[in-house]
Amino acid sequence: MNQHTPSITLIGAGLVGSLTALLLAQRGFRVSVYERRPDMRKADISAGRSINLALANRGIFPLQQAGIMDQVEPLLTAMKGRMIHDKQGNCHLQPYGQKSEEVIFSVSRADLNILCLNEAEKTGLVEFHFEHKCVAVDIDKREMQIEHHEKNSTIGFNQIVGTDGSASAVREAIHAKTSDYHRIEPLGHSYKELTIPSAPNGQFQMEPNALHIWPRGGYMVIALPNRDGSFTVTLFMPNEGEVSFASINNAESLMAFFEREFPDTLALIPDLTTSFFANPTGHLATVRAKPWHYQDSALLLGDAAHAIVPFHGQGMNCGFEDALEFVQQIDRNPNNWSEIFQGTELNRFANGNAIADMAIENYIEMRDSVNDPIFVLKKQLSFELEKRFPERFIPRYSMVMFHRLPYSEAQQRGKIQSDILEQLIAGKKDLHSIDYALAAQLIEQKLPVFN
Ligand SMILES: Cc1cc2nc3c(=O)[nH]c(=O)nc-3n(C[C@H](O)[C@H](O)[C@H](O)COP(=O)(O)OP(=O)(O)OC[C@H]3O[C@@H](n4cnc5c(N)ncnc54)[C@H](O)[C@@H]3O)c2cc1C
Repeated sequence: MNQHTPSITLIGAGLVGSLTALLLAQRGFRVSVYERRPDMRKADISAGRSINLALANRGIFPLQQAGIMDQVEPLLTAMKGRMIHDKQGNCHLQPYGQKSEEVIFSVSRADLNILCLNEAEKTGLVEFHFEHKCVAVDIDKREMQIEHHEKNSTIGFNQIVGTDGSASAVREAIHAKTSDYHRIEPLGHSYKELTIPSAPNGQFQMEPNALHIWPRGGYMVIALPNRDGSFTVTLFMPNEGEVSFASINNAESLMAFFEREFPDTLALIPDLTTSFFANPTGHLATVRAKPWHYQDSALLLGDAAHAIVPFHGQGMNCGFEDALEFVQQIDRNPNNWSEIFQGTELNRFANGNAIADMAIENYIEMRDSVNDPIFVLKKQLSFELEKRFPERFIPRYSMVMFHRLPYSEAQQRGKIQSDILEQLIAGKKDLHSIDYALAAQLIEQKLPVFN
């Protein structure tokens, strides 16, 4: 490294920050990353949320571009579909896609983050400053205030990238200078993480290659497999109301709730009461903000730009796409930071909004619609139409999870497809009675061929 190596400052060494640091170093940048928490490789810091995550095609592609997918693969557990659990303890699998490669993967947040940190550090160009919290940014002066062990210091930067998550300090600084809008939209629902441990022999206690769901209308439980044979379980429910975090506030009401709604989980979660009341309750919100950059000095990526609710399993995947778009803009416009920041925002903004909307819609699908015969028929018909018209029709879930067309296009095509499905299933009970000539006509009229 020499004095002339270009340098860039990142705030936040989470999933998006650590991958962005690696991608930048691979392009010859010297990168300083300030992270408020201790180094997760040395301290056992529970993220306090989503111990594991679903990684899908969109997140895999940037990891491949960074050349680390070979090391990510051993960390993954494939999930082929949703394993739906009813109140009687019966379960059935609803496949996510219809091709063998159409699966998503459960991965530990910490393992993936640590891999990105290590790979970034190995380049010799990235320096992580842990327990350094960014408390303020003066964008015009290109200076920030960093708090370290209760002492503040002023540090200069050339360009600053906020990968500091949903409560971003960099976003706050950008929006103090210029803001079209900045909205935090609480969902009104929160979540609690619990654990199904492995069996004494280390084996999984349920099917490992599935995302388990106990859909119950206004609330639900899900479980994702971990490599050690355990499952991370998440209960999502409203903050207020008859069945809510407010009303289920003692051991008695909790046990009665689980006995009534999720009886088959009771034998699997041995410490339900203790962990429910010991573990934090995570709140869920969508963050929509514009702009994502300020002139040639600051940019937002990942949750800092667009925090979304977790029901499509896309927050990290989307953030990884942002990181790749950013460095591709650098490749296209070397040293022209205004163009790089503007281009990144232009290509990602509508997509951030689209996945935010689709993530909220997917909550309703997961907790409610999966049990509805109309939903099931539509899903079967979507697969059938994909088989018959693969160049024009791909189920929306598959467009989001298994393809890389922009989220905004997936959303637009999804709306058209939904209207077509409604029209085709009106008054029909099964796939045999569908009018496929009408399907062909509607699809050709309304859905352009995929690029
Ligand atoms: C329950 C739940 C389940 C989820 N499941 C999935 C899923 O299955 N698939 C998926 O793709 N996504 C999922 N997500 C979303 C995913 O967790 C986020 O989109 C992802 O973590 C965003 O990464 P990030 O690096 O942008 O932000 P973060 O992960 O929030 O990282 C930000 C980092 O910045 C640091 N930081 C914050 N402020 C400062 C500061 N002022 N100074 C210095 N450092 C700072 C933080 O300590 C943190 O390390 C889920 C989220 C939740 C809550």
